[in-house]
Parts: sequence; structure tokens; C-alpha cells
Amino acid sequence: MELVIRNGISDITYEPIEVGIQNGKIVSLERDGLPAGDQEIDAAGGIISPAFLDPHFHLENALIWGNPINQSGTLPEAIELYAKIKRQMPIGDIVARGSQALLLAIGYGTLWMRSHVDIDQIGGLHLLEGVAEIRSRYSNLIDIQLIAFPQLGLARNPAAVDYMWQSMENGADVVGGMPHAERDMDDAARHIEIAFEIARKYNADIDMHIDETDDPYWHSLELLADKTVEEGWQGRVTAGHCCAMSAWDNAMAERIIAKVKKADLHIVTNAPVNLMIQGRGDHQPRRRGIARVKELLDAGVNVSCGQDDLQNMFYPFGSMDMLEVAMMTAHAAHLSAPEDICTTFNMPRYNAARGRRLQNYGVYVGADANLVVIDAKSGIEALRRQPDRRYVIRNGKVVVETQTIQKWH
Ligand SMILES: [Zn+2]
Repeated sequence: MELVIRNGISDITYEPIEVGIQNGKIVSLERDGLPAGDQEIDAAGGIISPAFLDPHFHLENALIWGNPINQSGTLPEAIELYAKIKRQMPIGDIVARGSQALLLAIGYGTLWMRSHVDIDQIGGLHLLEGVAEIRSRYSNLIDIQLIAFPQLGLARNPAAVDYMWQSMENGADVVGGMPHAERDMDDAARHIEIAFEIARKYNADIDMHIDETDDPYWHSLELLADKTVEEGWQGRVTAGHCCAMSAWDNAMAERIIAKVKKADLHIVTNAPVNLMIQGRGDHQPRRRGIARVKELLDAGVNVSCGQDDLQNMFYPFGSMDMLEVAMMTAHAAHLSAPEDICTTFNMPRYNAARGRRLQNYGVYVGADANLVVIDAKSGIEALRRQPDRRYVIRNGKVVVETQTIQKWH
């Protein structure tokens, strides 16, 4: 075997395991006693986990915080500020910043990412060119899908529709959307229809920003679920954010969550950003501004979590560590019981892998050897401490090694 990992524990049972890897695949898995490998690494009692996924990020505008500053802290101001500068961002600058964000993510064991790329009449295909360059530059380290994201609307911006079609010929893999960027729910329905026209033509998955607002008027999640069933796209559609859910009444939430389940939509909640940017107009009690995670999980809906933004006008913080994102999701969604914590640990792993329809994901014989060795004895410890990712392994090769040293004097 080319690589043997010794002295690790299972990411599910936390029982001792050794993992043998050959040709990028896991070829043996035992409690102990695997024969010697060409290369051997010591997990030092840590978790051997399938690597993380970030299912919702924006590479092109990472690390531009401070210029300009979002004074109100709201989403509308962030979109307005971004619209003013997106055309002028040089490709080299997009590549430099996006690369920095990406390397942080890989260092924390993220080996798959979905990045939404603004496609509209202002930016044209300019931003897509930049992130496509990042994708090809790091294709040996991380698998990136690009989502064509019409942040300024489609029904009210016919020019953006042309660019959406063109983006699918120029590197976009997934059809995005933002129906609540339209004037009203009728236009939101048209927006979703256009996205499905494009997805049908290219046999592409769909991944939209949905109802990213506190305004309970918006319920384009229901339109998306209905359309998904009508088109037979079940299991291929993701809805990100879904913040308005926290403002709906319970009867409405129950009705729409049942439809989400029927359509097999995947939900990506972006707790760090939404906790910061939503609820700005509320007096106490303030709404939490995120999807109803517990109710979705109780209904059997697949929920994962995303970083969304890194230090920009949408969000001043972020580390690109999916354990941090999951930890913040646990706080925002009241996930504290042992089974809830187990689900939280799975969000940026198995749940996100299901959303991406990833095959051969996990730690079993025959799985792809895309792994992260986490310096923790359990999922709860991994979330609580967000410790070193001792080894990040892609296609059976160690690509990053981390060991923090603390010195006491
Ligand atoms: Zn987003």
C-alpha cells in the first residue's frame, strides 16, 4: 500500500482504526495490524474523517473588507456597495484574494467547494473569468463547482439572462438564482422558471440564494419546491440561506417544509453571515435570521452549512474552517443534544456530500481517499476546540500537515 494511517479512530464510532490507501482509494480498513505501507503516518489517536465540503462560498469578493465599509450592516447596503466595485476588480486581484481564501480552506481539510459567482449586466462574465482561473490553478488540491449567480435579478434584468446562458458555456457548472431580488413573487416565479430552462438545457443542478431577508412576504422556497417536483429535478436542487423562514408563521413554515421534503431540496444554512446581517431592523425580541434548522431536520430534510463570505462588506469575519461554521450553526439553531451535535458534525461532511451528489464519500473500503485527520477524540471535541487538522489527504496523497506547538515557560 502506498499510504497507511495508523493509530486513528473512526469518524462515526470513534473506535480504533487503521486505513490503507492505494491508487487514491481506501483499500483496507482494520482495527490494527495492517501490513507496512510505503509511507506511514500517525493519527496520534485522532479522528480519520472524510474531508470537509464548503457548499456555499463566494470566492471573488473574499478579503475586501474595509473598502468600502457597510455602515448599516445590512444585505441591501452590501449588495449596493459590491455592485459599485465588482466591474473594476482586476482579474489578478480576484485570483490573489480567492487563492488566499482557498488555501486557508484546504489547510482546514476542505476539499470540495461550491462558489457562487455574480453574473449580471454590471460584472458580465468578468468575475467568472477570475474564479475559473482560481479553479484551474488549484484543481490538483480542491474540487470547485462554480454557480452562476444572478444577484441583481433576472425578470427585471433581461441582460442578465443573456449572461446567465453565456456563463454555462464559460465555466459555470450549476445554475444559481436569487428570486427575492425581484420586484414581487410573480417575478420570482419567472426567475425560477428561467433558471430551470437553463438547467434543463445543460442538465445542470440548481443552487439558489433563497429568501435571504427578514421579510415574511418572501416565500420563493415554496415556488422552488413546487417547480422542482414539476420538472422532476428532485435531489438536484439546493436552497441556501432561507432566512425568511424565521419570520413566517408556523402554519406557513409547516406547509412549505413539507414541500421541501417532497422535492428533496437540500438546504444550506449560512449561520455566521446571516446572524450578522439579518435582524438589523428588529427591536427586541430579535429574529435569529436563519433557516428553521431543527424543524427541517425533524422533517427529514438534508441540511448542511456554508461559510458564505470571508471578510467583505457582507461579513467582517470568517476563517474558512468548516468546524467553526458548524459550531456557529449549532449555536444559532439550538443544536445541543448529543444526536444534534452528531448531525452538526455531519453537516459539512456527509450532509454536504449528499447535497453535491458526491459518490464514494466516507471512510470505507472502496471510498476515495480524500481524508482529514482531526486532532480530536470525538465530534463534540472537534467542534468545541476546532483543533489541528494533522493531515489533509487528497487522492491518497498527503497535501497539508499541521501541528501547533504551545510552549509554556
Ligand atoms: Zn451567498
